[in-house]
Amino acid sequence: MDATKHIPEPKTLQEAIVYFADPDRAFEFAKKLRWPDGKVICPRCDAGKNSFIKTRKLWFCYACKRQFTIKVKTIMEDSPISLDKWMTAFWLLANAKNGISSHELGRALGVTQTTAWFMLQRVREVMKKRSFDTSKIGGEGSELEADETFVGGKVRNMHRSRRLRFAREEGFAGAATGKTIVQGILDRNLRKVRATVVPNVTRETLQNQILKNVKYGSTVYTDNAVAYDHGMQRRFVHDVVNKTEAYVKGRVHVNGMENFWSLLKRSLRGTYVAVEPFHLSRYVDEQVFRYNHRKDGDRKLNDADRFAAAMSQVLGRRLTYSDLTGKSDSPHHAPTGARETQVPF
Ligand SMILES: [Zn+2]
Repeated sequence: MDATKHIPEPKTLQEAIVYFADPDRAFEFAKKLRWPDGKVICPRCDAGKNSFIKTRKLWFCYACKRQFTIKVKTIMEDSPISLDKWMTAFWLLANAKNGISSHELGRALGVTQTTAWFMLQRVREVMKKRSFDTSKIGGEGSELEADETFVGGKVRNMHRSRRLRFAREEGFAGAATGKTIVQGILDRNLRKVRATVVPNVTRETLQNQILKNVKYGSTVYTDNAVAYDHGMQRRFVHDVVNKTEAYVKGRVHVNGMENFWSLLKRSLRGTYVAVEPFHLSRYVDEQVFRYNHRKDGDRKLNDADRFAAAMSQVLGRRLTYSDLTGKSDSPHHAPTGARETQVPF
């Protein structure tokens, strides 16, 4: 059946909600993303011989004699949430400029806030760059910006026991002050950002991020002279912005990174209100995903492109409730950690 025959693929949020509300259509769409050539392969044994049980939307593999659904070996595996709801969640988070809160998503999908929160964290896990495709950025003739930002509440806004818990659980130096540090690197030519939660702003930490992410011979601009000097010049051409100057001189600035930070902070303040330091890196991944999927070369990406990019990464990702909370209980029994609104920024 060609479920995409009657309605064109969605381009806007409204179209997406209507489109995926039909379970058959959502299923066909996901199938096409997972097996673009139409040949369904068993996710467990890679065999191609199977039969489709239409009424239950699952396949039986003749080789391993087991059934599989479209969700097997994806981030959605073991989730009782239906595919159409998952796809709407992917669409929303991939495209909402300021993100989407678990309260909003819960209301939109008719699920509890805790369930919506767990879904969003799984979508963020999918948006995260995989370790094997983190090839270095920059290179001879490339201009990059490196910068850090501090995210989080002030000490006086946080109860002492909470502060101590953060420091203990996260082991972040920044946690003691209620701040979490994020370091970012922007490749101006590629218009791509790498951003990571880091434990401190020592020279070693910040330079390690550059060495890990940036190719030899790149020009790296920063406004942090102390953290990036010594040894760096041997590997990189390094220009430091003097922030005390009233204007930016030529190309030596970190305006691109500052633009990214303001997007990140807008979503954290406006939509998420407060994110515990333990979870912050996922919100950073989410913002990086949207930022890096604005364009592909010179082609402007649209909402459908971003959605497809996110959905194409669902394979091989897992995130359990205990991964997220350190607890083994089901979401129904352990709401702790599933909140976005505790400490206002
Ligand atoms: Zn099989």
